[in-house]
Amino acid sequence: MAYDSENIFAKILRGDIPCNKFFEDDHVLAFHDIAPQAPTHILVIPKGAYTSYDDFAMNASDEEILAFTRAIGKIAAAAGVVEDGYRLISNTREHGRQDVPHLHVHIIGGKKLGLMLP
Ligand code: C5P
Repeated sequence: MAYDSENIFAKILRGDIPCNKFFEDDHVLAFHDIAPQAPTHILVIPKGAYTSYDDFAMNASDEEILAFTRAIGKIAAAAGVVEDGYRLISNTREHGRQDVPHLHVHIIGGKKLGLMLP
């Protein structure tokens, strides 16, 4: 799947549309999900143009992967969900119900979550 530079997260990264920003550094942007599914629901996206987790894992540099992985942990800590726990989700492609074709990891927590069923 070729990267679509008109996807909504690409527009957020360019500043064409707003987001409720939680964290930003050279490699990563994190913002509150517009339709939160729990008290804490943050999306973490790399700044590079990667469609999905597999695209990122296979094509990003080690520096990007390290920065993204570290940022997710730091953001979870900053959001205050580490002690009680949280869930990371990266819906991937059609069967994974990925709506926005720019890699994003959901950090969901702030309450005891339901069991995850297929
Ligand atoms: O994993 P999936 O692609 O289905 O999730 C996309 C997420 O992006 C949804 O949770 C949706 O609420 C969120 N979103 C957002 N801001 C937008 C558009 C979508 O937070 N402007």
